[in-house]
Amino acid sequence: MARAVSAVAISALAVVAAIAAALLQQRAAATAATACRAAESAVAATILGWPLFESGSPLAIAESLAPVWHVLVTENDPTKAVAAFGDDAARCCAGGADVPGCNSLVHAAFPLIAFMDRLRAAIDVPRRDALRGEAGAASASSLDAAIVDRLRATTKTDGLGSRAARVAVVGGGPSGLTAALVAHREGANVTLIEKRDFHYSRPVWFDLEPGDDGEPTTQAQLRAWGFFELRPPVVPDDAGSPVVTVQCFVLERFLALAAALAGVTMRAGEEFCGVCADDDGLVALAAHGGCTDGGDAPEAPAARRAGEPLLARSCTDADRHGVTVPFDILVGADGPRSRVRDALDLTYAPRARFSAADGSLWRTEAALSQVTLILAFELDAGGRCPALRRDAAGVPLPPHEPSFDEPGVSTVFKRFFEPYCELQLLFEETLGAELLAAYETEYPGGAPRWSWGPGGAPAAALERDRRALPLPLLRRVTATILASPFASDDALLGALRRPVPHGRADASLFRMAISAASAGGRVLSAPAPYGRLSTYAIALLRGDALASAHYRLGLGVNEAFKALPALADLLRVLGGMGGPDALRGSLMVAKTVFGATEAAVKAGADRMVNRQLFAIYFEAVCGFLVFGGDDAQQVYRRRHRDRQLELLPSDALDGLNCTAASTAASRAQRTR
Ligand SMILES: Cc1cc2nc3c(=O)[nH]c(=O)nc-3n(C[C@H](O)[C@H](O)[C@H](O)COP(=O)(O)OP(=O)(O)OC[C@H]3O[C@@H](n4cnc5c(N)ncnc54)[C@H](O)[C@@H]3O)c2cc1C
Repeated sequence: MARAVSAVAISALAVVAAIAAALLQQRAAATAATACRAAESAVAATILGWPLFESGSPLAIAESLAPVWHVLVTENDPTKAVAAFGDDAARCCAGGADVPGCNSLVHAAFPLIAFMDRLRAAIDVPRRDALRGEAGAASASSLDAAIVDRLRATTKTDGLGSRAARVAVVGGGPSGLTAALVAHREGANVTLIEKRDFHYSRPVWFDLEPGDDGEPTTQAQLRAWGFFELRPPVVPDDAGSPVVTVQCFVLERFLALAAALAGVTMRAGEEFCGVCADDDGLVALAAHGGCTDGGDAPEAPAARRAGEPLLARSCTDADRHGVTVPFDILVGADGPRSRVRDALDLTYAPRARFSAADGSLWRTEAALSQVTLILAFELDAGGRCPALRRDAAGVPLPPHEPSFDEPGVSTVFKRFFEPYCELQLLFEETLGAELLAAYETEYPGGAPRWSWGPGGAPAAALERDRRALPLPLLRRVTATILASPFASDDALLGALRRPVPHGRADASLFRMAISAASAGGRVLSAPAPYGRLSTYAIALLRGDALASAHYRLGLGVNEAFKALPALADLLRVLGGMGGPDALRGSLMVAKTVFGATEAAVKAGADRMVNRQLFAIYFEAVCGFLVFGGDDAQQVYRRRHRDRQLELLPSDALDGLNCTAASTAASRAQRTR
């Protein structure tokens, strides 16, 4: 009996122990889950003031943000950063079992939180605290509701001037992202359409100009947005100027993050296809995964008289299968092959006329262009770019040195920012044309967009390069620049052909011509059904869509920043004229708003085009070197005897009449 009782007691104890263990386990899981939730809340407390996050788990939000910070600050490889962060988040979310995972998540997000506070202040998004009073209650849900209401208020459509302007920005490069941020700051309801996803970028670097005296230059604006507080990997100029250089993807990711946080609706992976008009006004059409129609042609442009607003074509059911974004203002920031520009029926043609900045010279030259070769090198065994040659005092030789020795080479730029090591060569017109012809023979239809794996370049591509690229010249040029030049053409070709992250061709030869749109934008009209008023909208071009930027002078991104105040002014003028509803029925309002600021943007683009043509003319056609800024373009002649550059006085330039033939002659003379 006693044995039976103790057996029952033991099994009861076992049950109690099992229950206790289960309870403990449950409690541990609950503690972990609570800690996980607490960690989530820590992130959420700061983040949830942002409109973007009105829905969705805070953890998911942190998960989506922290990789961006990782990428900006520590990693060059977004895929790696996302994967690393994703593991932590996954562990934490899976029943809250891994608190350290959660902690590391919060830890990873921490600098981001400080940055977001800064950004929030700069971009002026309504903060939770600021709304506390307005909401009249302290509960989280009523505060969230207040934030959402505040945002929805910007999309109200009843009554003249009571709603925010709807701005559709096409293109998520530097011009589009900055335009979206500025339009948002001016109170507009902004949608950005970008055909890439934001994980792709280009192996390109931008030289960011410093801000002087309140001028809205690149560094000043980025500082105001909190960019430098994130300690992004920027490279100071090694010549000691205050310019800093940043990789394209770092800048684009920062701007995309800022835009998303500010509340811009980001439509990544959708391509803008055209514009149409429906009963309520003008609509941008976009499609997931690309347009199928080869582009939208506006209806009967030939029937329109000069100066009349463009009649956008009417939306059909087929159009509506894609994405439609209604707009009052359309910003075409979709680069040199802009579909927005095509939809506006504007042309994009190379320019022929240019002047010196001080007006001392005017020239018209047909088809000015420059041929450029970009070479990406491998890192050495220590993970560094190849070492540069130095003079007797140990100072690295300037990269333009080869232009003293190599006939036909205008100049060379070095972009050595590990893990990228790149030389950019610019050729004078005649040699450039010869090289391009050879390259086009080997790669008919243009160089392919290579994406090679770790094995490197396929043998066939190396063989084509061997035939097309000027190997003896490249060997000499690199020997002038590098301390340990390549021992053989094979070593040189192998080094040139390394795969580039996010990459495409790592050696590419192309012609850079400077083209500009025939106008900076236009007024569009949506014809209304009988008895109702037509609606007008304003379309603007920005960045390379307006005028192409040669990398040579580092102008493109900086000019995009300089154009930002005009967009802010335009939105203010529109607000002053009664808001976007004033565009219903009044062509006069539309034209006034459009004209108020766009002349300044067009003038800026014209200045940029002029500066580039000036440089191309004197470098590619005359064989000189051009340095200097907006107001002083300085032209240098090479003094071969003492290997110095000699500044030419501006009044001497007017008398010069260079031709490609004269460059070829001087080349022949120098070779002798
Ligand atoms: C090798 C090289 C080096 C350079 N170096 C410098 C430099 O040092 N400094 C400098 O200031 N500039 C430099 N530039 C020039 C600079 O890259 C451009 O001026 C700048 O990128 C222009 O920005 P953007 O936003 O106007 O256009 P882009 O950067 O071309 O962006 C356009 C965006 O629109 C998207 N898009 C295109 N069509 C559509 C569509 N139909 N629908 C939706 N989205 C679309 C594209 O995917 C892209 O993201 C360099 C250029 C090159 C090629």
